[in-house]
Amino acid sequence: MNTPQHVPLPVVGLSGFEANMSEEEGGAQAALHRFAADVMRPIARELDLMPADQAYLPESPFWQFHQEAFKLGLGPEALAGLDPAAAARMEGIVVEELAWGDAGLAVSVGAGGMPLVMAHASGNQELIDMCNGKLGCWGATQPDRGSDGLILYGAERHPGSRGNKGNLQATFTDSEIIFNGQTSAWVSNGPVAQVALLDLVADYGDGFFEENGDTYGCNVILPLDIKGVSRGKPLEKMGKRSLPQGEIYFDNVRVPRRFAIATRDDYALKHAQAWAHAGTSMSHISTGVARAAFEMALTYVHERRQGGALLAEHQLTQYRIGLIGTKVEAIRAMARHVAEYTRCSPRPHPYFTASGKAFCSSEMLTVVNESLQLFGGVGLTREFPIEKLLRDARAMQIEDGENYVLIMHYGYLLSQLHQQENWGRN
Ligand SMILES: Cc1cc2nc3c(=O)[nH]c(=O)nc-3n(C[C@H](O)[C@H](O)[C@H](O)COP(=O)(O)OP(=O)(O)OC[C@H]3O[C@@H](n4cnc5c(N)ncnc54)[C@H](O)[C@@H]3O)c2cc1C
Repeated sequence: MNTPQHVPLPVVGLSGFEANMSEEEGGAQAALHRFAADVMRPIARELDLMPADQAYLPESPFWQFHQEAFKLGLGPEALAGLDPAAAARMEGIVVEELAWGDAGLAVSVGAGGMPLVMAHASGNQELIDMCNGKLGCWGATQPDRGSDGLILYGAERHPGSRGNKGNLQATFTDSEIIFNGQTSAWVSNGPVAQVALLDLVADYGDGFFEENGDTYGCNVILPLDIKGVSRGKPLEKMGKRSLPQGEIYFDNVRVPRRFAIATRDDYALKHAQAWAHAGTSMSHISTGVARAAFEMALTYVHERRQGGALLAEHQLTQYRIGLIGTKVEAIRAMARHVAEYTRCSPRPHPYFTASGKAFCSSEMLTVVNESLQLFGGVGLTREFPIEKLLRDARAMQIEDGENYVLIMHYGYLLSQLHQQENWGRN
């Protein structure tokens, strides 16, 4: 007699349906998972409940987190021996795990490392030494220059309008760069960062505007403990409360001209590079947050009974769990695809990277929202951490570029490819 054949359960890991995880990747993932569970989650929960004016003081657990994170050696040198595709994958695995722990702290690490990443990319040893071991930030937006800082082509602006000079400008002399103005209140790590990567308009001696109305720009790395720099108060906000954000003010701040990593001729490309780096991180962070919410919902439906059975035993619940589980896999796939293209393509483009960030973060918001829905009323209370995830997820629809604006830029790029390179014409 034939014995019935059963299909065994599939192989899954922390990051879902992984077919080819190497030993090195698995080791890094396991170590970071413990860190995320044991260090990040408890500290993030504590910070979430603290008022912003206390959460980042020297005695705050925020600094305990950074001391521990620093020991993990997550800087750009960690990926140095890997080829670009392997580096993109490893980065995805690492960032997903950190974001599973806490999205705000994951951003604090990511933004904190941006000056060092860009210093390494520039090859300038003085700047690398300046950033090593320091908490950094990326100051790219200003009160009057939010989405406008992400416009790469003048044709995307309203006809007849000029570029946006914003509230912070750099003036270049033969030997120095002089900064005046302020960043937006949204600069991640702004109130506490020790070094900054600034992305802003510049005057090289002939004003801020090119003939066609575009602005000249520059990228500069500088220490923040110098004369003329001051900070705003940490922002009180609904989500990502473990992440300090606030203005940085510049009053006639002077640094040597050699601190610039991009000036009028190579600014656009460096700006694109920095923004694309941030966009890939945000996509991986979306994966980590979506997975965290999905796991919380999956656990809860195996505990809560309604309708005479565990929620998990109802077909409606199985459908809802199946739907959000599918989305988590899709978010991860998209995040890794965008990261690989951004690192490996001979000519990547930040508008494509940004489309990935917009897709991953908006699908992630759906996953978090649907996960909370599975909790019913208790999901809205502080008793369960799912409500915090919803607040964190909401912030990510605007962070690193507002999502509608990002998709609009991507649509423009697709049209340009069609018009200029016949892409999509048979
Ligand atoms: C959690 C978080 C972290 C952040 N971290 C940093 C950081 O580390 N460094 C930094 O510099 N900044 C940071 N930001 C700022 C972020 O990049 C900006 O908030 C974002 O780019 C949007 O700018 P804005 O808030 O000024 O909105 P605005 O640009 O004023 O947009 C307001 C609305 O107008 C719409 N809009 C804008 N332009 C157009 C247009 N051309 N056509 C039609 N509609 C338009 C948008 O879709 C949006 O709905 C962060 C923000 C958040 C929320």
